[in-house]
Amino acid sequence: MLEQVHFLLTYLCNFECDHCFLFCSPRSTGTFTLSQVKQALAQAQKVGSVEWVYYEGGEPLLFFPLLVESVKAARQKGFKVGIVTNAYQATSVEDSALWLKPLVNAGVDYLSISDDAFHWDQELSPAKMALEAAKGLGLGTGAICINQPTIMPPGEGQKKGAPVIGGGAMFRGRAVEKLAKGLALRDWKELTCCPHEDLADPGRVHIDPMGNVHLCQGLTMGNMWQTPLEVLVQDYRPLEHPVCGPLLSGGPAQLVRQYQLPHEDAYVDECHLCFLARKALLQKYPAYLAPPQVYGL
Ligand code: SF4
Repeated sequence: MLEQVHFLLTYLCNFECDHCFLFCSPRSTGTFTLSQVKQALAQAQKVGSVEWVYYEGGEPLLFFPLLVESVKAARQKGFKVGIVTNAYQATSVEDSALWLKPLVNAGVDYLSISDDAFHWDQELSPAKMALEAAKGLGLGTGAICINQPTIMPPGEGQKKGAPVIGGGAMFRGRAVEKLAKGLALRDWKELTCCPHEDLADPGRVHIDPMGNVHLCQGLTMGNMWQTPLEVLVQDYRPLEHPVCGPLLSGGPAQLVRQYQLPHEDAYVDECHLCFLARKALLQKYPAYLAPPQVYGL
């Protein structure tokens, strides 16, 4: 049951992180207008089961007035509201409260902040300052920490005999280009499930300014500017979806088999193979694999 809608409010970001799923950077394009936000919120409300709306990106604080109005609009529709940010504006705890207050007054419930070496290298990072300020304002908070991938020592892995990569990076988007090199690999035939997304019964989707409704970054249910979200959700038949169907029946390995895609012998993990297989299918299924920029194109 769909409970969360995450707005990719903008693809623009002040950073260009190696692990970014979406290839965001200071050169990225695509930002919601306020009118589009309101249209999307109305569609989300019609789904009937959505409780939470998140605003993220890219870096949503780059469009601060739009963010404040979007929080208000979501609250007016009765949604709980979260924000995901890298807190780049935080220069001190006291000053962090200055930019947090308008968001709190607008009704935000939860602030999730990227606090890791990909974003910040100083001990008292802007993320930590913003977290402290948020707590002082009584806001629910959480930190997202992604570290450089490492091969975990034996015993800490999830699956006996399989090389497991620690650090929390997902091998989709820019991480495939920047972080996969030199890591231990697994036989492609072992990659038989999607370990991170509930493609059969998604509890959350990400939506972008172009209207794409992402089940996983770049893998879409359809386009909400062409077909309203409530209809997309109602008509979603995961096993009939040309990409989710194979992923559900046999993971990325089945996706490769079904479309007879060229492939290497081994990959870091399921997402690594899935992302490259989907990239190879972009021209065949542009309605379900979009937008090209999240594939680095
Ligand atoms: S296997 Fe594919 S669909 Fe599943 S989480 Fe990884 S990249 Fe996303």
